[in-house]
Amino acid sequence: MRINKENYYSLEADKETMSVSQYKLWLQCESRALAKINGKYEPAEKEAFILGKYIHAWNEGTLEQFKLDNPSIYSTRGATKGQLKAEYQTANIMTRSLEKDENCMKFLNGQKEVIIQGELFGIKWRGMVDVLNLEKGFFTDLKTTQGIHKKYGGLTFIEHYGYVEQMAIYRELIKQQFGKDLIPYIVAIEKNDNPLKAIIKVDERYTIPKFEEIGANIERIIKVKRGIEKTIDCGICDYCRKVNKVTQILAIEDL
Ligand SMILES: [Zn+2]
Repeated sequence: MRINKENYYSLEADKETMSVSQYKLWLQCESRALAKINGKYEPAEKEAFILGKYIHAWNEGTLEQFKLDNPSIYSTRGATKGQLKAEYQTANIMTRSLEKDENCMKFLNGQKEVIIQGELFGIKWRGMVDVLNLEKGFFTDLKTTQGIHKKYGGLTFIEHYGYVEQMAIYRELIKQQFGKDLIPYIVAIEKNDNPLKAIIKVDERYTIPKFEEIGANIERIIKVKRGIEKTIDCGICDYCRKVNKVTQILAIEDL
């Protein structure tokens, strides 16, 4: 199957190829990941996720169409009826803040939403690059975040949300597809009305060890995905709570 914009988010594409978000799902909970790929489980779309899509639509130059396709971003009641909901007014402040920042705009300049595909660790992968600039030698992912300097159990938001994995995989897929080794950047902006922004280089000190780690983890994922090995329940996620038995006898130190 050839991946394109129409089938990128389809279950068929998920069955045939690996993506970084799918990889992360496998690590979180194998049972939930398999159910999702088989169309038996659909996680609820979070409001934060739609906000991210709003900012991406702006970056791609398709914001007006996005607004038409997503009526839920408008208030339907009270004095604000018909206006953008508060979080999307914030989104507008965020995009204006990016527009005013020459450096951010430099790193958001290039081909937008480019599909990349290739083979890594013996399986097919797909990805979508927010900004690809082959001439200047970089690619960029635009991320919204609660706080650029916020830590999650000692980790930065880039490590915590698996963005290093994403950049490591994308770098390799771009190498295969375009024959060029590009430098990965993240343009990050906070989700608030006076957002801090940053341009972050995701260099090889981070991507090389992560790439090796993916190689080590993927063997089991392939086996489980192909049905050779049975899935293991994580025992705590929303899917396991609904479908699987989660009650087990724990020691206090397991909590
Ligand atoms: Zn689970």
